[in-house]
Amino acid sequence: MNFRKNLKLSDIGEKEFLKKIFANIDTPSVLGVNDDASAFSISENSVLLINADMLVSETDILPGTSLKQIGKKAVTMSVSDIIAKGTFPLGCLASICFPPSLEVNDAQEILVGIKEMTREYNSFFLGGDLNQSTDIIIDIISFGITQPDRVISRKGVNPGDILFATGTFGWTALGFKLLLENLYVEGEYKIKSLKSVYEPRAKLEYVKLFEALPIKASIDSSDGLYSSIHELLSVNNLGFSLTHLPVDESFVSYCKKEGLNPLELAMNGGEEFEILFAIDKKEKNNLLKEAKKMNLTIIEIGYFTSNSLELNIEDEIGEVYSFNKKGFVHFKEV
Ligand SMILES: [Mg+2]
Repeated sequence: MNFRKNLKLSDIGEKEFLKKIFANIDTPSVLGVNDDASAFSISENSVLLINADMLVSETDILPGTSLKQIGKKAVTMSVSDIIAKGTFPLGCLASICFPPSLEVNDAQEILVGIKEMTREYNSFFLGGDLNQSTDIIIDIISFGITQPDRVISRKGVNPGDILFATGTFGWTALGFKLLLENLYVEGEYKIKSLKSVYEPRAKLEYVKLFEALPIKASIDSSDGLYSSIHELLSVNNLGFSLTHLPVDESFVSYCKKEGLNPLELAMNGGEEFEILFAIDKKEKNNLLKEAKKMNLTIIEIGYFTSNSLELNIEDEIGEVYSFNKKGFVHFKEV
């Protein structure tokens, strides 16, 4: 693929660029190139799921994040993708760049964060590579092993299938506003939004649920709720009716009180690390039963339609508010 001379990455953005270079990627894989992780068959009965996810301090770290939290977030960013594909992370490697001016104790603290977080995910930190740069950059490669028929792709949804989320959205967007735009957020709302951005956690406990049911497709939502739904629609060439916006009631009432748009914040936030997963509606009762047994929260958010790429919002918040259809992309302002 040849690009026009002088065309910059900022002219086309991350997703457009990726689409154009997919032809360069080998796909002896259970998953397509545009999925949360790569899957490589290692024997008849086992598949290696592997993901690389890079944290760059300048764009991924908010003011006030502790050094340990930086290391922890880097691990979460990668592990969440392995979980979204239906398996437990076994181990993590880290390719790290530190600025030479970084104090040794601070560098050590970041590594302690990496180690502690991998342990929290019952995984191992297996080393990696160290280099220098002007910014703190941490690329985590995490992996897990599963059976071929257990890998959950982004693809495989049919009209009528329902989509669930493992949790609510919006608090991170409020946290970004608080830390980047000096939005005044009070009391418990401040605590919730700061916790969501400083201490995100991948949803490890849901792997058991995914193993227990015929999940048809899933995606890690860290690019934002809208962006992730759109990705599912695009891969499956379907539309979606959002019947229930996955937000906490307290979040909506706070937004209303402060004149904020809950739909915009929930749709375009990102980094909630919730998993969106689809099932056949015939499996809904089994899913609800299993989730209850495992004491896991799941939220039904809507159903797929045959109207290609059309997003219909049936939730009553959609009657009052609107939002810009965007999500997080690198290289380009959206
Ligand atoms: Mg990720």
